[in-house]
Amino acid sequence: YGVNEERYQDNIPEITQQKPWDSEFEWESMINDMNKNIFGNTSFMNRQKEVINAVICKKDVFACLPTGGGKSLTYQLPTCFMNGATVVITPLISLIQDQIQKLKDCGQEARFINTDIYNEIKMLCHEIVTNEKVKFVFLTPERLIMNSLIRNLIMELEIKKRLNFFVIDEAHCISTYGRDFRTEYKKLNCLKEKYPTIPILCLTASVTRREIQEIVDSLKINPEYFIEGPYRANLFYEIIPKQKNPQSQLAELIKSRYNNETGIIYFNNKKKCEILTKILQDIYSIECIYFHSDLTLEQKNQKLKDWQDGKKKIIVATSAFGMGIDNNSVRFVIHYAIPKSLGEFYQESGRAGRDNQKSDCIILYKISDKRLLYYFLSSISSIQGKEHSMMEIYKILEFCEDKVNCRKKLISNYFESDEEFKCNSMCDNCKYRQKNPNASFYEVDHTNNAKKITELMIERNFQIWTYRQLINFFLGIMPRNNDLSNSPEFGSFKSKGLKVHDIERILLRMLKEKILKEFVQRLGQHDNIYIELGENPNEWEKSIRISLEYQAPIENDVNKNNELEIQNVRNEEIVISDNESSDEIVEIRQGVMIGIENR
Ligand code: ADP
Ligand code: MG
Ligand code: ZN
Repeated sequence: YGVNEERYQDNIPEITQQKPWDSEFEWESMINDMNKNIFGNTSFMNRQKEVINAVICKKDVFACLPTGGGKSLTYQLPTCFMNGATVVITPLISLIQDQIQKLKDCGQEARFINTDIYNEIKMLCHEIVTNEKVKFVFLTPERLIMNSLIRNLIMELEIKKRLNFFVIDEAHCISTYGRDFRTEYKKLNCLKEKYPTIPILCLTASVTRREIQEIVDSLKINPEYFIEGPYRANLFYEIIPKQKNPQSQLAELIKSRYNNETGIIYFNNKKKCEILTKILQDIYSIECIYFHSDLTLEQKNQKLKDWQDGKKKIIVATSAFGMGIDNNSVRFVIHYAIPKSLGEFYQESGRAGRDNQKSDCIILYKISDKRLLYYFLSSISSIQGKEHSMMEIYKILEFCEDKVNCRKKLISNYFESDEEFKCNSMCDNCKYRQKNPNASFYEVDHTNNAKKITELMIERNFQIWTYRQLINFFLGIMPRNNDLSNSPEFGSFKSKGLKVHDIERILLRMLKEKILKEFVQRLGQHDNIYIELGENPNEWEKSIRISLEYQAPIENDVNKNNELEIQNVRNEEIVISDNESSDEIVEIRQGVMIGIENR
């Protein structure tokens, strides 16, 4: 392309007086040309130019740009600009080949060390060191840390002054708070120790401030920050109550709204993804494919290709499907079960609408699905990690329960972003408000109920409780075969007019305030959830009001809703488990509970 000869020699001037990163640096015209000639872009997106300027100035950089925000260019372009090779550390094997092909198409040589065979690595390393055309070296953190040949390669590049900088893609994997934490990522803290003069560029799409701090501390860098808020104007967020037959509900949703459109359905379990795929295909004639981590690399690549080429429109996947997907026209992302955190929801649903066309992000939600999430908790070993994950679960549950606040605002708060934006009815709650300008919202103070529960639990110290017992307590239902039946306060308490769903919400708030605490015990095939007093059992005394917000139904809707619910009750068998050993409510559906109250 001609630009290569002009490549900026290794004599970047000391920037003594720092000017804003979006101002014109002396390489302004050169990076504009490269962007056009090498990468075929007409302009820079978002904050790409700022990041590129900082990288060229050899700064450590932390860039958090939204999914599809064009993060790759922020290391690819500066690399073309420099003499040496750039080491890109990324957790994804499945999509690196794709990246390399793209770079090839732009006339750039890249290598991916994806083998553990000694001789093969040796040959690759030799080539990288001797062939100056090789500009990109892709590595997984595991290989970088574990393989001595690769460590030597990097050392050799540095000695020859051919090591440009390190890129840590998907840098949120470093954070132990994050859901994608990878042990080997933590060990990247050795980079600055071994190579104090080599800059590090961290790239990620979604992190909270706390996670950023942890990543930066861990890497021992003091970077320039480029943080874009999480607001995505073209995404519509919606929580849809999961119905009794969620599969048919899902099929109906897809057929009515997304005929022949590209989409992703997230589910939390590999086997269930396969089953759901089969049901959608065989019963509802919706063509789709599944994707999860047990597939071979070949299978993954094939499925990805079919999906990206549009041969198959819908992919049913676990969270293994995600980072680095390059498909711009995803019209919908449906979470068929509750995601593990609001951060995960944001990131996974953010794969929709990269082309800036309106796209939907949906959770099919019922509160009792939360037990699906406890399965993941048992796989977390540290107590701290468990507690953090629990808190994340409470946050996403509150998000789903919220029928009042703007979802985009809630997401923005979650990331502690101070970005200003207008939702423009691009979430279900704002849309409801726009359509029903007279809709009212009311708050009910449940502090007394919370107090009652706490008092009971303090009195019966050391006793652990099941959800069912606590819910029964609220409902004033006497327990069977339980010494509690002798307890005078137990039977006498009945909170008027409370539905089971309300009680769940009160308990959720109390859990989040650490007035209560949950723990999980695996018994055979079941995760049993128990509740005990939390760290702050008296917190409500310091006037934490446990109040819930309700959306007041519009006059006309009242009857309609009631009819619907009553119909549900009739059709529904009672699902409260009678099995004392599992002693838990397996499913709580509004209809069922109304049924009980009616009895
Ligand atoms: P991210 O890693 O941030 O999710 P990518 O780097 O994969 O995003 O880029 C997403 C898409 O945007 C790619 O198809 C890429 O070619 C395209 N892209 C990147 N920068 C630009 C630009 N300046 N102009 C137009 N398209 C761009
Ligand atoms: Mg990327
Ligand atoms: Zn909104």
